[in-house]
Amino acid sequence: MPSDPLSLPPGRWRDVARATGLLAPDGAVASTVFAEMSALAVRTGALNLGQGFPDVDGPSWIRRAAADAIAPDAEHGANQYPPGPGIPALREAVAAHQARHYGLELDPETEVLVTTGATEAVAAALLALAGPGDDVVTLEPFYDAYAAGIALAGARHVTVPLLPGPDGFRLDADALRAAVTPRTRLILLNTPHNPTGTVLTRAELEAVAAVAREADAVVVTDEVYEHLTFDGARHVPLATLPGMAERTLTVSSSGKTFSLTGWKIGWVTGPAPLVTAVRTVKQFLTYVSGSPFQPAIATALADDAYPRELAASLAARRDLLCEGLEAAGFAVVRPRGTYFVLADAAPLGFDDGTALCRTLPERAGVVGVPVSAFCAAGSPSERALRSWVRFTFVKREDVLRDAVARLAALAR
Ligand SMILES: *Cc1c(COP(=O)(O)O)cnc(C)c1O
Repeated sequence: MPSDPLSLPPGRWRDVARATGLLAPDGAVASTVFAEMSALAVRTGALNLGQGFPDVDGPSWIRRAAADAIAPDAEHGANQYPPGPGIPALREAVAAHQARHYGLELDPETEVLVTTGATEAVAAALLALAGPGDDVVTLEPFYDAYAAGIALAGARHVTVPLLPGPDGFRLDADALRAAVTPRTRLILLNTPHNPTGTVLTRAELEAVAAVAREADAVVVTDEVYEHLTFDGARHVPLATLPGMAERTLTVSSSGKTFSLTGWKIGWVTGPAPLVTAVRTVKQFLTYVSGSPFQPAIATALADDAYPRELAASLAARRDLLCEGLEAAGFAVVRPRGTYFVLADAAPLGFDDGTALCRTLPERAGVVGVPVSAFCAAGSPSERALRSWVRFTFVKREDVLRDAVARLAALAR
């Protein structure tokens, strides 16, 4: 529902609205397509495969640890401000996690910063390191918060397309080399990638590393799906590539790994000077957050069993949804990671994913999100992916079976 353009104030928020496609030519502000589709699901009773959050909560032992931290009889409950950079136990657990999984050695004192989810880590990194006159390069399609954060920083957003081929959505190395120039301050990477489900290969990461070194750019990598990979695909942190640890800020979060997306415990790691720059901004955004959740996640991070089981169960749910989408007539690119699959509705005769998503509840009782919501307005990627829709499979198997049965209506 657009709001009255006349009463809206000036300000940087307009750049954010423009960058995220929410500012209409008459100056009114629209709600995001995510909000529109979720409201549509509520209104029509359709199954919401648009928004990516689990419909089963994370392990009870982790939730118990957070509850214990603020239990009324707890002597020294975690009810006050934690230390600015995060509690020591969590910073140590993050460092141990990076060492155990990737061989990355970090000093928990100076090279780890706890943030309010990956979202704040990315926003603070953008505000800290990029500004007017700088380019920030991302893949396209991109997570919508990136465009907003780049606009808030006053920088210019330059994108490199991921395009579908026989081997999934892949990075165009020539387009990458053309996009990264001496104006590039930051490359904001995301792997495993939302929305395509691509897990960048070592060769693709080497191409990113080469252009970053050449342009003397810092790379921020959003790795929130680091443990959610399938078919033996392995996530490789960019920071593990030769010469990259010194110019890479690695961002992750407990939300996706432990099915606790509402807790918003994230972190950023990297060389002390870069982490210091991010902390300087972050401390004036939220200062701190999540007192009782920090010790719970510190304990959770020592456990590799839950994320492994989640990845296996997600792979099976991915297969279920992909087969259903294919049976319904979509062309599907099998994701190797994340919560999401992209499906092309062109073989079904739909060339406009946004229009299809608006009628999908009526046609099939299911809600998805058009991939154009992850593209810059008028970009080549937006045109190329116009008929594509993102669906999530981070829902219970019975919900997905129901969705697949409903989607079969499209094939008739
Ligand atoms: C979900 C998601 C986030 C947000 O992470 P929080 O920890 O909830 O802030 C960031 N990046 C990507 C790519 C995501 O899909």
